[in-house]
Amino acid sequence: SRIAGISTSLIRRMLEITASKKNVINLSIGEPDFDTDEIIIEMACEAMRRGYTHYTSNFGLPELREAIANRYNVEMKNVMVTTGASEALLNISLAFIEEGSKVIIPTPNFLSYFTYAKICKAKIVQIKTHSNNFELDPDQLNEVMDDKVSLIFLNYPNNPTGVVMDKSKLKAIVEIAQDHDAIVVSDEIYDQIYYDKKPYSLAGYENVIVVNGFSKCLAMTGWRIGFIIADEKFMDPILKVHQVNGVCAPAFAQKAVAEVLSEGIADIIIKRMVEEFRERRDFVYKSLKNVFDVVKPEGAFYIFPNVGMDCITFTEKLLMEKGVVVTPGIAFGDGNENYVRISYSVSMGQLKEAVNRIISFVT
Ligand code: PMP
Repeated sequence: SRIAGISTSLIRRMLEITASKKNVINLSIGEPDFDTDEIIIEMACEAMRRGYTHYTSNFGLPELREAIANRYNVEMKNVMVTTGASEALLNISLAFIEEGSKVIIPTPNFLSYFTYAKICKAKIVQIKTHSNNFELDPDQLNEVMDDKVSLIFLNYPNNPTGVVMDKSKLKAIVEIAQDHDAIVVSDEIYDQIYYDKKPYSLAGYENVIVVNGFSKCLAMTGWRIGFIIADEKFMDPILKVHQVNGVCAPAFAQKAVAEVLSEGIADIIIKRMVEEFRERRDFVYKSLKNVFDVVKPEGAFYIFPNVGMDCITFTEKLLMEKGVVVTPGIAFGDGNENYVRISYSVSMGQLKEAVNRIISFVT
């Protein structure tokens, strides 16, 4: 019954259609199109040769925890390294979502939050953010809050909209949660990929658990390094799940990340990637705003236009007629029936061609 409401059919169907067509441009990708930098690969190979092939502490290598703690101005005891942000999110969910409790998920949002809530047999309460530039409105949250709420998932910069939330609103949300003894899970996985508006981190607030990782900012999705920043009181419950779930992140990958962080190389790698994403963001926003109702993304590498028709019909026709793959909005929660997610994690050349095809499809 825990997995009864979880579906994988949408993705499978899209993949089947994509495989049957030639010259397809895929704008449904949820990871950077960049490869992991050669320097990190070298560091990892070297680490493997030096024996970083065993388990590490459940909390992670001390040098990596320390580098992360320094970045957030917290102590090492507040940092746990996990097998990607995904493992962190599942650990937190299993530790803190009581069966039958309410879990608040602003929509649109990253699909996995719905899955975590379902696995934990929670009651999902969705708050629509469409009329609010895709930001969660504290007043709307206040209306649905009660003491049955165990947890609130936040994700800014947001997947699928790219929206970055204001500091004042974020703080208001944390306060409302605190009043009701609820935990805020702030998934900040895209925090290094931003354009004009700098994301505000909720690390350090007593009832907030921050989740982050290196999958996106260092283009390391296959390496599986994530982390949690939380008050010490949360660490033991999370450890009880982590010790039987992820156990520890790959040792050589942890070592390589610790080294690029401490040597300041990570910032250079991130900056180079973000500059390229910015060019694509500018191009895709400028082109699409002429044909769709769309909010300007301030982070991540997604844009979420309202296409003015049923998203499944739009997605299937666009693929069949023009060979462009996008993700239908319904994958991101309620109220997204007329939206699609476009990922600009493809080369500028491919993006230009894909945008031309989309515009010729709708005009
Ligand atoms: N959170 C969000 C919002 C994401 O988009 C993703 C990746 N698609 C993740 C978490 C998972 O990241 P990881 O690879 O570190 O598990």
